[in-house]
Amino acid sequence: MENCLFCKIIKGEIPSKTVYEDDLVKVFLDINPATNGHMLIIPKQHYENIIDINDEIITYSLKLIREKLYPMLKEKLNCLGLTISQNNELGQEVKHYHIHLIPRYENDCDKHTYNEDILKPIDEIYEVLTK
Ligand code: 5GP
Ligand code: ZN
Repeated sequence: MENCLFCKIIKGEIPSKTVYEDDLVKVFLDINPATNGHMLIIPKQHYENIIDINDEIITYSLKLIREKLYPMLKEKLNCLGLTISQNNELGQEVKHYHIHLIPRYENDCDKHTYNEDILKPIDEIYEVLTK
């Protein structure tokens, strides 16, 4: 879809730090991470949100998280948990369906506020995940 930021990322018109990609989805690091390794799964085809996304993409993404992405985050970044979130309409900044994967670490939160002091540069995280 024209003028969609994430469609532009899929077409390669806007660069992204991609950690996984196949025919159906692309997974890349969030530009403004809540924690180290915060990534987004997006379908290659444009859907806006939970209202129009098809079940196949949701099922496929959950399988991908369970079988590949969460194990990768545990192995490479030593995360201790994973928060999965997905915004719809209000609170949704980018109107192209996406699932947030937010790796969790001991002491990454203080009274529900993410601790930015422990965030590493995205380039460093990207290298660890893709080497
Ligand atoms: P939403 O609020 O729509 O659920 O989340 C959109 C997410 O996309 C935000 O976490 C934001 O940091 C991320 N984001 C916005 N623009 C870009 C971009 O150009 N590149 C990347 N990698 N992430 C982006
Ligand atoms: Zn799009």
